[in-house]
This record gives sequence, structure tokens and C-alpha cells, in this order.
Amino acid sequence: MHIVLISTPIGFLGSGKGGGVELTLNSLVAGLIVKGHTVDVVAPNNSKLFEVSKKAKLHFVEGKEQKSWQHQDYYSSVSIPDNSLLSGMIEKAIDIGKKADIILNLSYDWLPIWMTLNLNIPIAHIISMGSESFVIRNLISKVYSKFPNNFAFHSKIQASDYPFIENPIVIGNGFNLSNYIFQDCKNGPLGWVGRVAPEKGLEDAVYVANALGEKLKVWGIVQDESYALKIEKLFSPGIIEWKGFVETDKLQKELGTCRALLNTPKWNEAYGNVVVEALACGVPVVAYKRGGPSEIIQHGKTGYLAKPDDKKSLLNYLKIINKIDRKNCREWVDSNASSNIFAGKVVNWLNKVIKEYQTQIYIK
Ligand code: UDP
Repeated sequence: MHIVLISTPIGFLGSGKGGGVELTLNSLVAGLIVKGHTVDVVAPNNSKLFEVSKKAKLHFVEGKEQKSWQHQDYYSSVSIPDNSLLSGMIEKAIDIGKKADIILNLSYDWLPIWMTLNLNIPIAHIISMGSESFVIRNLISKVYSKFPNNFAFHSKIQASDYPFIENPIVIGNGFNLSNYIFQDCKNGPLGWVGRVAPEKGLEDAVYVANALGEKLKVWGIVQDESYALKIEKLFSPGIIEWKGFVETDKLQKELGTCRALLNTPKWNEAYGNVVVEALACGVPVVAYKRGGPSEIIQHGKTGYLAKPDDKKSLLNYLKIINKIDRKNCREWVDSNASSNIFAGKVVNWLNKVIKEYQTQIYIK
């Protein structure tokens, strides 16, 4: 299969601004290449692919980035700037796509989804967020009525934000597991990983560290500086150890030394890459029973699921974290979330989309 991938229009690959989509794209590309597929990636200027994904052809597009939907009002209109990066990426993908079997869109935005109705090539969408925009939700509903196979989700609970979708296609996610080394560090520090932005609920994790009289190591890009400052002011100085945004190799080395990862989303987290990355290093996760992490973590086996927004419950589970056998964590990832397993699910889905598209053309 020849696949053209459209990356996120929020930031270049490697910037961290695109969140989990950046890693998802890289592991998907690696998995597809191992399976013998040809992959083109259309991405913003300065994007970098991981070493294992470098056999894909990377096409750069320059332009103005989109604003992330989760940081806008739910009822906002679609806004496309002059010299739009998103429309530039779509134009490039359509051009390359003339010789390909399918376009696979990873950007959560209106324009590429709308294009499904107007293209002479099949285009499929990995929806990377829960419902964060009224206008996108309604567009997905409209396109779904004509092209029911063209949307895939990372978790069942994420898909439930789009209740008009019957039997959603759920593909999970995948990781290049050779990049993550298991560490057996039962007495290490507490960690938190993610974009520092309100939907990620960092303050609840800091509350737990503070209650235990410990520091919290925080890795990730500070996307909302005023939010970060607000949290710092809520607690005594020095509780948060800001580690910044680091590349996967450094992240996994440092994260692997933690005795637990805290994961405290305030939104319907689509999947939660950082949860699986921690598990891959043998780090159990204590998370709210909300969004993707509630489908990933096996309560009592690879971590604990606390009642959403109940910080005391998080704290109580942390106190018994050493009951978790760290080997269970890595084992779950090996059997459920490798890039090979993920790419296999994506290929099966894309074959279905292509077949359906050809049937529709034939009927016309
Ligand atoms: N991440 C990283 N370096 C860091 C912190 C985070 O590369 O220092 C990556 C992490 O590997 C993950 C992504 O940031 O892939 C966060 O994705 P997640 O699905 O957890 O949340 P999202 O940002 O998509 O909401």
C-alpha cells in the first residue's frame, strides 16, 4: 500500500506542541515500513522523523499553524489563517496522493475532514481527541453518514464523545518498544508527563506529591505559562521539579527511575501515550478513571484507577503502589501496544476504507 500521511498543523514534529500525535505518527510510520508499505509524510517545516521512521519520505510545508481546538471555546467557528499550514499540507497531500492508495489524516481539524466529501482519492482520519469542537463534531457526523468506515479512534471511551458512531473502529496506539528499557526501581521519585495545559490537571498530581512531602518530576512542554505559574503559587516552592520537554530516549531513561507516574486528565483523554510509555519502562500508573487511561491501566495489576477528580483517592493508591509487580506493566505493553500491532490494525482498517471507496466508485 502507498499511504500519504498528514501530520498535525499545531506544531512541527519534534516540537512537542502536537502532543501525542507526534509519537503516534512516528511509531505508525515505523510499523508500516516494517510491513513493506510505502509512506509519504506531509508535515510542517523543521519536522523530524525518528531514526526508525526515516525510510518514509518527508515533505515539508511552510505556513501559519492552527490554534489547538481544546484551547478554544467549544462553539468557536473554524478559523483558517492566511498562508495556512493546514491547507498547504492538504494541497501537498492531494498532489502526492494522486499516485497513492490512500491519504491518512492525523490532524484534528475541519478542513481535512470536509475534504472527504470532495476528493477523488479515499481519505481516512485518525481522530486524536474527544469532542473538543461543536463544528467538527457535526462535520464528523455528516461525513460519517456517507463514509462510515473513514474514522478510527484510539479508545472506546474517546469514541463515546461521538455517540452517532455505531460500532466505532478502535485502533488503540503503538510504540517502538525497543526504545523503552524496563527498570526495576521501586523506591524512585514520583513523575508526571504531559503538555502543561489545563486539560491535563497537573495541579492534582502536585497536590499528591505535596501531601507526601515529596517532589514531583514534571516532563513536558509548558503550553500555558500562566497556568504553570498558577500551580507553582498554590504549593510551597520547589515541589515541582521542571524537567522540560525532552526526546523519547531521555524521557524513558529518566521516567523509568520513577516508582509511579501520576496521570490526572480533566478531559476525555483520547488515549494517553505517556501512560503506556511509563508502563513500557516498568513504571506503574495511578490515574483518574477517565478517558483512554481507564482502558489501558489494569486496576491492581499495572497501576490504580482513582475516582475522577478525587485527589485523596489518588494519594491512597500511591501509598500502596509497591504492591504492583513492575514486570506486569511491561508485559501488558508488549502484548497490546507495539508499533507492529498498531500498524496491523491500521492496515486492516485502511484496506476496508479503500475497498468501500472502490465499491462506491463502481456503483456511481
Ligand atoms: N513527550 C515527550 N517529551 C516530554 C514530554 C512528553 O516526547 O518531555 C511526549 C510523550 O512521549 C507523548 C506526548 O508528549 O507522546 C504526550 O502525549 P499524550 O497522548 O500523553 O497527550 P496529548 O499531548 O496528546 O494530549
